Amino acid sequence: MPIVRCATSNPGKLREFRIAAGHLGFREIEILPLDDLKSIAPPAEEGDTFEENAIEKALYYSVFCEDPLFADDSGLEVDALGGEPGVYSARYAGPSATDRDNNRLLLEKVRDKTDRTARFVCVIALAQRGKLLGTFRGAVEGRIIDEERGPYGFGYDPMFYYEPFGCTFGEAAADRKMTVSHRGAALSAMLKSIAGAA
Ligand code: IMP
Repeated sequence: MPIVRCATSNPGKLREFRIAAGHLGFREIEILPLDDLKSIAPPAEEGDTFEENAIEKALYYSVFCEDPLFADDSGLEVDALGGEPGVYSARYAGPSATDRDNNRLLLEKVRDKTDRTARFVCVIALAQRGKLLGTFRGAVEGRIIDEERGPYGFGYDPMFYYEPFGCTFGEAAADRKMTVSHRGAALSAMLKSIAGAA
């Protein structure tokens, strides 16, 4: 069974990737974490775009294993905030901000905005032994509401209202979210490319 390694220290993301691969019908490709990721000093992630950051991470971590490895960079773009928080999504409220801190700050910033359109974006970069094999982008459109709703997901999910579901991503279980999410779309594109090349 082909193995592809995932360079993330975020257990929420790894879980979603693995659920998505199963739901997308790619059961013959196994997604495993990169062993000992925590013992490797992380790269700076100072790019201005999701693409730059994903490529930087994939190239950097890919030299620590033989298998192809992917890394993603993702975040939320809010139109009324000129695309903020964007590549700063994880650290919007500061370098050690929690999801709750970030959500509070976002709430403050959108409070007086009437345009609430936003999207989650995910870019996956796939690399092997220091060579870039491809990049894959996914996005999902929604809008930001004035409160946090739902026990599921992570990050900005409880404030991201997804019209076709009639609820926030925080109210949608992970397998349902992945059928429409930015992460699911980017992963699907990558797995198709791996399956096509096999
Ligand atoms: P990354 O780990 O650098 O890709 O940062 C991603 C950050 O964007 C996360 O910490 C969340 O704040 C936000 N984010 C990305 N994808 C999602 C999602 O699916 N739901 C909620 N927040 C997300």
